[in-house]
Amino acid sequence: MAGLMQHNLRVHHTTTDRLAGRAAGWMLVAGGSLTLLLLVTMDFGLAGGAGRTGPLALASRGGPLVFGSAGVSMVLGAALAVAGPRVPRWFLYLLPAAMCVLITLPSLYAGETTPTGQVLLIWPVLYAGYLLPEAVAYTTAVLAMALFGFATLRSWGAASVAVFVEVEATLLLSCVLTVAVRRRVNRLLTALRTQAKTDSLTGLANRRALISRLDTAIEAYERDRSPLALCFLDIDHFKQINDLHGHAAGDDTLQRLAELLRGRMRPGNLVARTGGEEFAAVLCATTLAEATRRAERLRSVIERTSRTWPVPLTVSIGVAALPDSGDLDADGLLSAADGAMYAAKTSGRNAVRVAAERVPGVALAAGS
Ligand code: GH3
Ligand code: MG
Ligand code: MG
Repeated sequence: MAGLMQHNLRVHHTTTDRLAGRAAGWMLVAGGSLTLLLLVTMDFGLAGGAGRTGPLALASRGGPLVFGSAGVSMVLGAALAVAGPRVPRWFLYLLPAAMCVLITLPSLYAGETTPTGQVLLIWPVLYAGYLLPEAVAYTTAVLAMALFGFATLRSWGAASVAVFVEVEATLLLSCVLTVAVRRRVNRLLTALRTQAKTDSLTGLANRRALISRLDTAIEAYERDRSPLALCFLDIDHFKQINDLHGHAAGDDTLQRLAELLRGRMRPGNLVARTGGEEFAAVLCATTLAEATRRAERLRSVIERTSRTWPVPLTVSIGVAALPDSGDLDADGLLSAADGAMYAAKTSGRNAVRVAAERVPGVALAAGS
């Protein structure tokens, strides 16, 4: 379970980091462009009631700083948009604070709020709330609120109380809501990822999870050449169990067998239900000979233990392994184990058979 959660966190972090780098880049470019556009339109009296603020608003007191902040935003943003996936995490965590400073600096200097300053502060807050850890999100919100509060205090006027309360409340609420939505989305994603890899009847891993685990195990085998075995197990005459005792008894049998298999699995190995009454186990660092011995023990334990179940059963097991079954990929290993399992069926069932290319002696595996 801990392993699964770690895996989910890892997946979430890498994709989020990539997105966070690019999103910050485009946000900075957009913010910078917007500010420049407003600066120029203000000059022509197009930006609202304030009218012209000079031949180029640059001439006003905070003008050069607004221009400078916008320029820095655009350059930094363009660099981030290009280098998004390679930006270190600590830099991403500092970005929202830098954005808050870039947005507020001109107002702080000029002692007046810029036309866009108040609204733009929501950008870093939403960005950190959705894409960065909660601690960074709340720190960003507090910093944005503090900077805005300070800027407002410096240019306190008749409407200041209302603006102050509205903007501070909006910044805080934006952060709280975004973090809450993100938590909910993450919970749903984790549940979906778990469901996508789990067999609903038995709670074991499903075929998709098996293939993914097998791919990882084969990559590890190609690196360190530690042997890797796969056992394929099929219940004998399962259709008869359904026909004679009903579908519910069949389901109960599948659940009991899954529990037994789960209990016998060593840490690091994986057991999956791959189809109706078929199961598979990936055994890491296990040779073909060792896997065959364990499969034979398992076959015998299932036969013995299930005598106390409502419906006793036997199983046929096929075993394949790297390197002894050949130079195989995941599909090849699966079909080798599947073929060995069918050999066990044709030998009379309740047996273990082996797919062995390189060690012919092992092919004469034990069977009952
Ligand atoms: P063999 O010894 O050759 O493997 O024979 P078998 O009867 O086990 O194999 P067959 O493929 O003929 O039948 C498998 C049966 O498994 C048929 C299907 O109805 C049943 N089955 C598949 N999935 C489920 C399930 O989820 N629950 C139940 N109860 N039965 C299932
Ligand atoms: Mg079958
Ligand atoms: Mg069967």
